[in-house]
Amino acid sequence: MDFTLSSEQHLFQETVRRFAANELAAGAAARARNPAYPWDVARRMAAMGLMGIALPEEDGGMGGTLLDSILAIQAVAEICPRSADTIQAGNFGPVRTFAEFATREQKARYLGPILRGEAVISLGMTEPEAGSAVTDLQTSATPDGEGFRVNGTKVFGTHSTEAQVFLVYVRFGPGLDGIGSVLIEKGAPGFTIGQPSAFMNGETWAQLYFDDVHVAPQDVLIGPGGFRKQISGFNVERLGNAARAVAAGRHAFNIARDHALHRRQFGRPLCEFQGIQWKFAEMAMKLEAAQLLLMRAAVNAGPGLPNANETALAKLACNEAGFFAANEALQVMGAMGFSEESTVQYCLRRTRGWMIAGGSAEILKNRIAEDVFGRSFPQRPPRS
Ligand SMILES: Cc1cc2nc3c(=O)[nH]c(=O)nc-3n(C[C@H](O)[C@H](O)[C@H](O)COP(=O)(O)OP(=O)(O)OC[C@H]3O[C@@H](n4cnc5c(N)ncnc54)[C@H](O)[C@@H]3O)c2cc1C
Repeated sequence: MDFTLSSEQHLFQETVRRFAANELAAGAAARARNPAYPWDVARRMAAMGLMGIALPEEDGGMGGTLLDSILAIQAVAEICPRSADTIQAGNFGPVRTFAEFATREQKARYLGPILRGEAVISLGMTEPEAGSAVTDLQTSATPDGEGFRVNGTKVFGTHSTEAQVFLVYVRFGPGLDGIGSVLIEKGAPGFTIGQPSAFMNGETWAQLYFDDVHVAPQDVLIGPGGFRKQISGFNVERLGNAARAVAAGRHAFNIARDHALHRRQFGRPLCEFQGIQWKFAEMAMKLEAAQLLLMRAAVNAGPGLPNANETALAKLACNEAGFFAANEALQVMGAMGFSEESTVQYCLRRTRGWMIAGGSAEILKNRIAEDVFGRSFPQRPPRS
């Protein structure tokens, strides 16, 4: 497989890198400390054409590929990890599942503000009793003659404290085939957003409560039987997490490399100690190997959705490599890396979260093992 970038892709990558270096590098540490979503950055990304990169032009996108989106998000994340969240929100997150399956009318209503960096959409998938076992979800959508009444609760949603609209997984009926999704706006009667809580990575989330929320038929995104469609869109979100994990690992790596070149102990720079050199060799090897799996999944997707197994392999490798690199980089930096002023500890906290979010490492391994053995391994206890 040829992973060589074309001259256009190189130019695009370099343009985004230069923009990030000139406009975002100076504020990277401050943004990492600020839990508020960087709306100013989101608008600048939109002005740069970095929202909806892989969406068709008729939808307001750039008509590019998934690889283009990966090049952009990594170019930004390597320089300002927090700013890359805006590219995730405008390209990889629930926006992508939405754009893939929404009607023309739904797109007309919601895509514009999202692609202008003025709004975000949040994914309401996880429930208190349905985490990894997402198909156990209980939030119900019951026909009421004029549409549906939604009842239930969701937890842990990224941007759940900032979003204007929510893509909510619901149950129209029993079993896997009963699952679909609806769009619910903030402020809808019966929809309450609970008190904000914080993840250790600095992001906030709030519990969502749906109490007889009316959903009109035109607000159904994917009807019953659409669970697999939803997960196929979710694979893009997974690659966005993977791409940021490797890039955050590289951000930490670069800072630690500079530190090791200049910090002197025992009369020599740290990089002259073999124990330190080997850390960098391992970090480089893991980051580059993970990057190749990421590129494979992205290249094979073209402008479409990535393959599930390639995505699982890429996300697992990227999550592990990113976290490993951030952790080792922090160790190389000593107390400097552990201190709040450093973005290295921030990268450690961010990469840690992606080992849980978007399909935990264990769930990805289960998925990969099924592909290895060519058979399914049901996780539920056998029925008596
Ligand atoms: C940073 C972050 C962002 C998130 N963003 C969103 C979002 O935008 N929208 C949303 O809906 N949710 C979001 N989540 C929630 C996320 O999807 C869940 O945390 C995830 O699915 C795991 O569910 P859980 O936390 O309930 O853990 P559990 O499912 O209770 O699992 C606990 C542990 O057991 C392991 N485990 C579970 N089942 C198995 C098994 N069969 N085999 C082996 N190990 C297993 C898990 O891997 C995990 O380590 C986010 C979470 C994080 C941390």
